[in-house]
Amino acid sequence: MAIATVNPATGKTEMIIEPHSREEVDQRISEAASAAELLRQTSFAERAEWMRAAAAILDDQAEGLGELITVEMGKPIAQSVAEVHKCAKAMRFYAENSEQFLADVTLADPSTVSASRAWTRYEPLGVVLAVMPWNYPLWQVIRFAAPALMAGNAGLLKHASNVPQSALFLDTLFERAGFPVGSFRALLIGGAEVGAVIADPRVTGVTLTGSEPAGRSVAAIAGDHVKKAVLELGGSDPFVVLASGDVKAAAATAVRARINNNGQSCIAGKRFIVHTDVYDEFAAEFTNLMSALRVGDPLDPAVEVGPVATESGRNDLIELVEDARAKGATILTGGSVPDRPGWYYEPTVIADLPDDARLVQEETFGPVASLYRATDNTDALRIANQTTFGLSSAVWTNDPEEEEWFVANLDAGAVFINGMTVSYQELPFGGIKRSGFGRELAAVGQREFCNLKTVWKA
Ligand code: NAP
Repeated sequence: MAIATVNPATGKTEMIIEPHSREEVDQRISEAASAAELLRQTSFAERAEWMRAAAAILDDQAEGLGELITVEMGKPIAQSVAEVHKCAKAMRFYAENSEQFLADVTLADPSTVSASRAWTRYEPLGVVLAVMPWNYPLWQVIRFAAPALMAGNAGLLKHASNVPQSALFLDTLFERAGFPVGSFRALLIGGAEVGAVIADPRVTGVTLTGSEPAGRSVAAIAGDHVKKAVLELGGSDPFVVLASGDVKAAAATAVRARINNNGQSCIAGKRFIVHTDVYDEFAAEFTNLMSALRVGDPLDPAVEVGPVATESGRNDLIELVEDARAKGATILTGGSVPDRPGWYYEPTVIADLPDDARLVQEETFGPVASLYRATDNTDALRIANQTTFGLSSAVWTNDPEEEEWFVANLDAGAVFINGMTVSYQELPFGGIKRSGFGRELAAVGQREFCNLKTVWKA
């Protein structure tokens, strides 16, 4: 795949970028390795000052960057601008909290280990490679980079090939803010070149946010070289509405959960599982709201749903919907490609899915919702847990026992009660099953790429 910006709203190629040569990649890894040596000598206060300066650059340039994101991957402009500010907020959060997150911990009674003192400390690992997707071109990168750099690591970015201008902006951001040269470097390379970078002795670990096949390949190479890996992969999150839940509020939130980012979010509610007692009410409300969404040019602030980011992504959606239609599912709204340039797809709701429909098992990356009628709570849980994914989940209930039962039994990295899943810098983020392993965000995410050193003193 060429490294290029192709505007999904028009299908036009806006910019093609020459990939880095092997020599350029080598030079960039060297720069990152030198920066990592420097960074580990710096204080939290120094790094926090640079991180705050980088956050200020984002806030200052939010409008222009928002437009760039929308042109590269098609999300509605207000969401692009909000993404930029969200990044700045997370950077300030890590500037503020990293020293505390990574503070030494002393064993209260060192005599139990025959020591005069015993403690642990977090040290940076060195150069970490981040392989990142296009769906949040800045946020996915910053949620790795802010904690990693504040911990004293250096970062290398292999961004998705369709967001090169976002990658180039990030390539210089941290240097411009005061970080040592090479602290964060973009590598303009294809997926096939990633293995050699992971294998490079100067690289100490890798984090990948993306699809399951990419994750499997990257983790296998990291394993081969005995290097730390974190995987944030796909999801087919259940959004469960129980009979005790507020059905109207659930339907309104379900629409936002499904169409946010033009339906291309790993943590989007994708499968809507509704107790039979409230199914008809929910289905009617949800379908009405989905069919009323304004689809169009994502640079128009009134538009709620823009195009899918790539032509192949839209082809995947078409295939999934046509498979369901052929197997007898009911299309409640949408289900076709609007007659306009660009890679648009109608907001779609599909019900009565047979178990062998691909939509039941596979991730839908676009504005397509599948609806399931659950005969009771046990059936709702069975449907919720029946995919190979386990990223996040949502449950709508006003019954404390029901709530506790679903929290305890949903196979997912997170449960959001009476709301939709959102990634917050204060809360750990990550999945189980084929959604990956390891966590990002909060303190636990920052510690993933640190050496937790135990110190024992006689
Ligand atoms: P993708 O095709 O896996 O690409 C993600 C990144 O991996 C890109 O930089 C891509 O580079 C690279 N890549 C692809 N195949 C590779 C390989 N074999 N070896 C090394 N690198 C490889 O995923 P996507 O289509 O961009 O993103 C959508 C997926 O990401 C969805 O499944 C979504 O759920 C998941 N996602 C997960 C999270 C989470 O936090 N769990 C967040 C966002 C998205 P190229 O672009 O050059 O191919």
